[in-house]
Amino acid sequence: MLDIRDLRVSYGEAEALAGVSFHINRGEIVSIVGANGAGKTTLIRAIAGMIPATGGQVDFEGRPILGLDSTQVCELGIAQVPEGRQIFPSLSVEENLRLGATLRRSRADRQNNIDRVYNTFPRLAERKTQKAGTLSGGEQQMLAIGRALMANPMLVMFDEPSLGLSPLLTEEMFDVVRSLHANGLSVLLVEQNVVESLELCDRAYVLETGAMVLEGAGEALLQDDRVRQAYLGL
Ligand code: ATP
Repeated sequence: MLDIRDLRVSYGEAEALAGVSFHINRGEIVSIVGANGAGKTTLIRAIAGMIPATGGQVDFEGRPILGLDSTQVCELGIAQVPEGRQIFPSLSVEENLRLGATLRRSRADRQNNIDRVYNTFPRLAERKTQKAGTLSGGEQQMLAIGRALMANPMLVMFDEPSLGLSPLLTEEMFDVVRSLHANGLSVLLVEQNVVESLELCDRAYVLETGAMVLEGAGEALLQDDRVRQAYLGL
């Protein structure tokens, strides 16, 4: 579904991605774990067409997408749940959701998708007229996920969805990812929460200072000595 080869991104002189290669098969959950500053957000933003790449190739469903802008990438079926949620605090819950369905791909299904999001997240339905900025952190994360779903995506990229959430809400949020996946969505999950995300995924990659250093099944990486030492302190 998504095939990335030798992707490079620089900020001025500094190379944030130094030739990253990985792929996601249709229907998979793929996790990318890595420490602060490893390049995880840069990777998501480059795939989404939000920042330019300096080299490499990104194919989605067999079609090269590097160089497309973020609207075009979203039209093709890739949505993202950005780090820090990026919701509009002074707009209502429902207004935020509607903003997720402004593209051709999703406009006609807007009402159906709103109903579906409310079914998935009943708490958002209860608060649909409430200003998004007054929601709790967990509810805001659900709203960010709901807004991504409004775009009718085939692939959703989650950037640190557990950031700032309590362990209980983190569990709840990962359950949501699990159930979206069970309903057919492909998932790219970028996380510092190494244990949870390796348990959840089909396959995973470890990103260190702009390069993939390990790849394997999530369970296998959890047992890997390098992962256990570097990320789990074991
Ligand atoms: P975090 O978990 O802290 O968000 P990350 O793995 O997502 O980390 P990135 O945010 O992608 O990492 O950053 C990768 C590298 O690029 C870091 O060295 C960071 O300092 C640098 N970087 C990120 N954004 C910019 C920018 N706008 N300008 C310059 N350097 C940047």
